[in-house]
Amino acid sequence: MTNREVAALLRHYADLLEIQGENPFRVQAYRRAAEVIDHLTMPVAALSAEKSLTAVPGIGSGIAAAIVEILETGRLSALEALQGELPRTLVTLLDLPGIGPKTVGRLYRELGIATLADLEEAALAGRIRQLKGLGPRVEQRILEGIRFLRGVSRRFLLGDLLPLAERLAGQLAQQLDVEVAVAGSIRRMRETVGNINLVAAVGNQATLVEALARLPEIAEVQEPTPAFVPAVSTIGAEVRVVTAAPERFGTELLRWTGSWQHVEALGELAGGTLPPAATEQACYQALGLPWIPPELREARGELEAARDGRLPQLVSLQDIQGDLHTHTTWSDGRGSILAMAIAARDRGYRYLAVSDHSAGLGVARGLDPDRLREQWREIEAVQAQVPEIRILRSCEVEVRRDGSLDLPDEVLAGLDLVVASLHAGLRLSKEEQTERMVRVIRHPHVDIIAHPTGRLIDRRPGADYDWERVFAAAREAGKALEINCGPERLDLNDELARQALEAGVLLAINSDAHAPDDFAWMRYGVGIARRAWARPEQVLNTMSLGALLAWLER
Ligand SMILES: [Zn+2]
Ligand SMILES: [Zn+2]
Repeated sequence: MTNREVAALLRHYADLLEIQGENPFRVQAYRRAAEVIDHLTMPVAALSAEKSLTAVPGIGSGIAAAIVEILETGRLSALEALQGELPRTLVTLLDLPGIGPKTVGRLYRELGIATLADLEEAALAGRIRQLKGLGPRVEQRILEGIRFLRGVSRRFLLGDLLPLAERLAGQLAQQLDVEVAVAGSIRRMRETVGNINLVAAVGNQATLVEALARLPEIAEVQEPTPAFVPAVSTIGAEVRVVTAAPERFGTELLRWTGSWQHVEALGELAGGTLPPAATEQACYQALGLPWIPPELREARGELEAARDGRLPQLVSLQDIQGDLHTHTTWSDGRGSILAMAIAARDRGYRYLAVSDHSAGLGVARGLDPDRLREQWREIEAVQAQVPEIRILRSCEVEVRRDGSLDLPDEVLAGLDLVVASLHAGLRLSKEEQTERMVRVIRHPHVDIIAHPTGRLIDRRPGADYDWERVFAAAREAGKALEINCGPERLDLNDELARQALEAGVLLAINSDAHAPDDFAWMRYGVGIARRAWARPEQVLNTMSLGALLAWLER
């Protein structure tokens, strides 16, 4: 399990303790431990293996024991005991904006409220304002929150559900000894996903229900429908496991991978229903088509391209030769240059750009020219220790409001690679923002524009540009635009990346890793690039080291 997952489980436990009215110090201790684990520079499993968990400030012996249990079994029995005592529906109340576990706990203990319906009824009847400390404004906020929740069905980040879906599929496959595949929008690598769809090659739902109920990350198995067994995961994600006889496995996998528009168009070709087939290849073949990669199945011209033999050879994870935007402890990263270089080498990369923030980004320990030069000495030393990978001197240079850069030209000239990014002033008018971006792109030292819009998925809209002008400027100046792989960023998104490629712009797919674990995010960015129909030669960091160095010299 990753640090993030262990921390999430501890946090969930802290929420339930608080709901139950447990001693606030104990609640706080679990939250603090989760925070500490989130910021560790190494896997918590490694610390546990060498029995040094309690050496970490914020992790006492009780919490260390809980972490060991989570790592060994994937579950926390104390959490499960609490889940048994409290109604499951309480967790959904935590989704209400502005309502924390403390309030949820009081509502439950003092008014017996356990569901959204209970809560709405109590708020409408004015019973919540009668609780000490909760006035009419809280009541109003609750009613607004309920309306909000009903309006939007919950969506998750791809980066949160894909690893979970793969674990569930792997565990089911092992228990049932049959093939189980991840389907749905997760397989198509959409940036946000609503649920987890799995297809299992079993005919019998009863054995599936039993196996599913045994999985540690499944909270509840629900009444099966004729097509699938629904369940809910411990983080509240809906899971559907479709049963498919082996001779229909390919057909069901295709159908449940979607998109429904793609499947519908295939159905029309087939004159109604999809032909039964054991593999997807066979199903497409029966329709006179080559296999179409899931990321393309969005009814955006892929059927026509497949029919005419024009499907692109898509970029894949194996094509990626290095990472050109990463951070270390020199700014806000959590791994040293050495730790990052070793992790990158172990992924098989040929090069790694160390691109810590410049001083202009107030929040991080940004680098001024002096510290940057100091960093170059450390890069040189690490380069001697890790000769298999070329470490590039880089910097994520802050773009000022007027489009100028935060470091002087003579310093930029000493860098191998300049990554420019906008973290502030994202709300300028479209006209001003476009001017600003075009100026950055034309700066002679700039090579890559990082996370071009600055959006955070479902949290912050990005900057608004006249994209035609931005793409034209990037193509003319020969600069690369980034697909940032951070699960909350995925910026450029698939549609903008496709437009960029059509305009002849080169892309760079970068993890923006702040710790060695984050290199794993590369697959999400590659997924977005594939959804944009990107071929390897359209992506800067598929180049060999020699070709990259030549490109940087251009
Ligand atoms: Zn950034
Ligand atoms: Zn960054």
